[in-house]
Amino acid sequence: MSALIRQLKYLLIPAVLLGTVAITTAMQPTPGPLEQVLARGELVVATRAAPTTYYMDQYGETGLDYELVAGFAHELGVSLRVIEADTLDELFALVRSGRADLAAAGLSITPNRSRHFDFSTAYQTVDEKVIYRMGGARPRDISDLAGLRGVVLAGSSHAERLDLMAADIGDMEVVALEGASVERLLTLVDEGHFDYTLVDSNAYAIHRALFPELIAAFDAGQAQLGWAFRRDSNGQLRHAAQRFLTRAKANGTVARLEQRFYSHEEHFNLYAARSFIQHLDSRLPQYTQAFIDAGEATGFDWRLLAALGYQESMWDAEAVSPTGVRGLMMLTQRTALEMGVADRTDPYESIHAGAAYLRKIYDRIPERIPEPDRTWFALAAYNAGFGHMEDARVLTQRKGGNPDSWEDVQQHMPKLRQARYYQHARHGYASGGGQAVIYVRAIRGYYDTLVWAGSSERHTRMMLAMVD
Ligand code: GLU
Repeated sequence: MSALIRQLKYLLIPAVLLGTVAITTAMQPTPGPLEQVLARGELVVATRAAPTTYYMDQYGETGLDYELVAGFAHELGVSLRVIEADTLDELFALVRSGRADLAAAGLSITPNRSRHFDFSTAYQTVDEKVIYRMGGARPRDISDLAGLRGVVLAGSSHAERLDLMAADIGDMEVVALEGASVERLLTLVDEGHFDYTLVDSNAYAIHRALFPELIAAFDAGQAQLGWAFRRDSNGQLRHAAQRFLTRAKANGTVARLEQRFYSHEEHFNLYAARSFIQHLDSRLPQYTQAFIDAGEATGFDWRLLAALGYQESMWDAEAVSPTGVRGLMMLTQRTALEMGVADRTDPYESIHAGAAYLRKIYDRIPERIPEPDRTWFALAAYNAGFGHMEDARVLTQRKGGNPDSWEDVQQHMPKLRQARYYQHARHGYASGGGQAVIYVRAIRGYYDTLVWAGSSERHTRMMLAMVD
């Protein structure tokens, strides 16, 4: 009975609010933000594209801020529309004018912003990192920045921080660039146009693989990230967001998102990063078209196939391993035969056969497994064999985990090397159980870097166009 009442209440809330709005229009001409959202059935969120916030992968819109606001919209029972702003000025103007209900873009809650906007409770804490280029004199604290040339994003928390510090230190030369991505700022320091920049630790974690020559000198401070709302007397929408975020933090949703969007970067070590960047220029271009064609033929994002090819052979068509696998996609003789490959060292053939083989495995994985997990399972099976991947899923279920979640299965797959686990497994000892986990993680790292290397070209071109 009480459950029914609760349900009814849920159904009634929007109707009641709508009723109130209709009846009291004369007395209350502007409905509050929450009423507006419910009435239009849509939450409008302003953001900026960045790997830490909002971007497109092969399945559509994603990113930590995006996934969080999507959860909030879902809870309100409305759809979500994202408006992308290029600059922070534009972003805040969208909220101020009411064209967006809120801004979610990894925004730091700063004293200056808090004077003009209401913020939700913080959903993440980040360090503000001072980044400089290896080889120069390492700044140890704020006072060492005097006399150096810095570059930051215009209107950012970092610009605000340096502004405050300049009052104490004096003599600070800082250029604030409109709409610059973190990658752009790091590139400018990497290329020696500026001595340092400030970026948030979450963004730095994602980008550092692209800039092996850059170093985090020290933390200029810490910041809390929150969603920004227009100042208004009626804080209902913000309070609803507050409740949602508090719960998302308490029930582990935020931690899971952080794990999903940032964690695999830690394993992308400096050495691997350095050669990957080199090979992006020296090797990838001659195979890009083959990856694109194979992607079209099999329905995979070509960058995923390229990431797989890099993990297999570092894009070396002549690669051979002691176990007899060879070629750019490192096919075994058996796979080559099964896929009708005449010459494994022909890169075009190898890429197409590798992609088609991955597709074959992918199609055997239950359709109910959501993306991107289904792809990670396919890669694990490509590496360790389908049977061992299945055994790992069974083991995960026995241990109380979710066999359809790669995050869960990857915790158990390495155990298939231990007798007490593999003796109950249908396909027995899996020497490569742990290796498959590292394999998938590495491919995710390469894939993300490729996605971002691609879009940064776009960003760079945009920036150049703005500078000219
Ligand atoms: N936390 C930073 C800010 O709020 C992010 C800047 C950026 O978008 O890169 O200004």
